[in-house]
Amino acid sequence: MNHILIVEDEYKIARFVSLELEHEGYKTTCIADGREALDNMLENDYDLIILDVMLPSLNGIEVLRRLRQTKDTPVIILTARDQIVDKVNGLDIGANDYMTKPFAIEELLARIRVNIKKSNALYVYGALTVDVKSHQVRYKDTEIELTKKEFDLLAYLLANRNKVISREQALDVVWGYDFVGNTNVVDVYVRYLRTKIDDVFGITVIETVRGCGYVIR
Ligand code: CA
Repeated sequence: MNHILIVEDEYKIARFVSLELEHEGYKTTCIADGREALDNMLENDYDLIILDVMLPSLNGIEVLRRLRQTKDTPVIILTARDQIVDKVNGLDIGANDYMTKPFAIEELLARIRVNIKKSNALYVYGALTVDVKSHQVRYKDTEIELTKKEFDLLAYLLANRNKVISREQALDVVWGYDFVGNTNVVDVYVRYLRTKIDDVFGITVIETVRGCGYVIR
């Protein structure tokens, strides 16, 4: 059963979302305080977190920023309609999705499903398997050690199989919009991946599309 943490200080909203999610078969935990929520989410492994922005003691953006230093739990930010600045901040620091209040519960449920599915994805490319949930990459029985950025880049290319991804797209998704530097970093990481995978196992995973970017076919 998927366990979802609801961080929301408006009791009525928290209760409503919690009841709806439990009706859909999820297990839920509700916390109304930012600092308490952060401690709790660092200690427990939730399948997804719904995070309000305006919270007592520590706001949702700060909670997310600190969570992302160690954990990749999918996070959907939930906030008031006019707080557009929070959307930019939230996506910059690693929110997976974003919804404004008031929201339709069906839409929230749909996004929860998509985000949980994405975080549980298992990509198979020949004898290469990439497990997003456990962050494990294997070629047959051999485990391949990748850094977080290497892993994220590989998973992103696999999620978009047969689609050419430009350096700019990869930079936006894997490094975030606030990344300062140039797109050469993508080339550098593709080279790291080729050194760790292609060169070791004698396969070709990522193809270079001259002048466009990279693709896994
Ligand atoms: Ca609030």
